[in-house]
Amino acid sequence: MKFNTKTIHGGQKHEESTGSVMTPIFQTSTYAQSSPGVHKGYEYSRGANPTRTALENAFASIENGTHGFAFASGLSAIDAVLRLLNPGDEIVTISDLYGGTYRMFTQMFQKYGLKFQFVDINETDNFINAVSSKTKLIWLETPTNPLLKIADIEEITKAVKAKNADILVAVDNTFATPYLQRPLDLGVDIVMHSATKYLGGHSDLIMGALIVKDEKLAKEIHFIQFAGGAIAGPMDSFLALRGIKTLHIRMQRHCENGRAVAEFLVKHPKISEVFYPGLESHPHHSTAKKQMDDFGGMVSFRLKDDCKEAALQFLESTKIFTLAESLGGVESLVNHSVTMTHGSMPEEERLKIGITDSLIRLSVGIEDVSDLLADLEQALSL
Ligand SMILES: *Cc1c(COP(=O)(O)O)cnc(C)c1O
Repeated sequence: MKFNTKTIHGGQKHEESTGSVMTPIFQTSTYAQSSPGVHKGYEYSRGANPTRTALENAFASIENGTHGFAFASGLSAIDAVLRLLNPGDEIVTISDLYGGTYRMFTQMFQKYGLKFQFVDINETDNFINAVSSKTKLIWLETPTNPLLKIADIEEITKAVKAKNADILVAVDNTFATPYLQRPLDLGVDIVMHSATKYLGGHSDLIMGALIVKDEKLAKEIHFIQFAGGAIAGPMDSFLALRGIKTLHIRMQRHCENGRAVAEFLVKHPKISEVFYPGLESHPHHSTAKKQMDDFGGMVSFRLKDDCKEAALQFLESTKIFTLAESLGGVESLVNHSVTMTHGSMPEEERLKIGITDSLIRLSVGIEDVSDLLADLEQALSL
């Protein structure tokens, strides 16, 4: 099946007892057994639930994996990956991580004896140099939040595995989605999503996903999820499954609108810098072009008047772009990184990676593009 068919049919079957075309919401915690241990494959919903199973099969299908896991949130999915490791193990990751991931690494897991090294995404050599015999995990995010930097997934994976074959490579694929980028095909071991964003696509749930294609790794993750308990519920699983069925057409429009917004901003006299991997001026444009099929709907920019007051005036003036946390829904959102997503990052750290006071991130939705451009124009002209 091609991708645009997999989003709708991948891993799916009609419900057996009624022929129901859509997988029902199996809102149940437990399942009747005819004799102890004799059941129809489901015992208790922390272990498995049929609505969640259908979603997990969809996850696996669209990412070209063999096993998918639906978690209570994106962060709980990352938490499960870190639980594969042992005290003393080292993790090499990028310096401009999603703020919540950075907080989890530095404030939750460091105290259990995991060691994190944060390297600049720009050079594959940075990763190679950071890897030691104790390195067990490379955690990548590409494109990054909010500066849309690109890591060369295939090159980094090959290079670190050549140095130490036991290293697991994981990619947070939230911004790209498998419509644009399929990291398992590029050699990585684990794909992670905040399904809260594009996979769900309608800003109506919080969910995480892990997808793998190795049987042993799948068993370990299933054990961690079952033993730790951070599962997605049946109602949310139903919503995410419904969201995935339109992922390809939503993403197509997100990409069209994202490009139009980026091209509009580049020409605007009040803007000093635009961050969008689809622009030829983007420093990682060629890597983006190599590993992504298009460039998505996330666009960031900096005002010439690089101060908080100017940013606030813009952020309080948009009418269609809603000022809110999150991204990846059908509606356009605007976000102030300094006060919102990166509030938990120390000022020194965020300035070092270029998150200044007027940095604004847009999640470009799938509305009519002329309305979006007009909204940006009026908010910038104040
Ligand atoms: C939102 C987000 C997360 C965290 O996911 P939650 O669903 O909010 O727990 C992780 N990574 C990226 C890139 C995100 O955008």
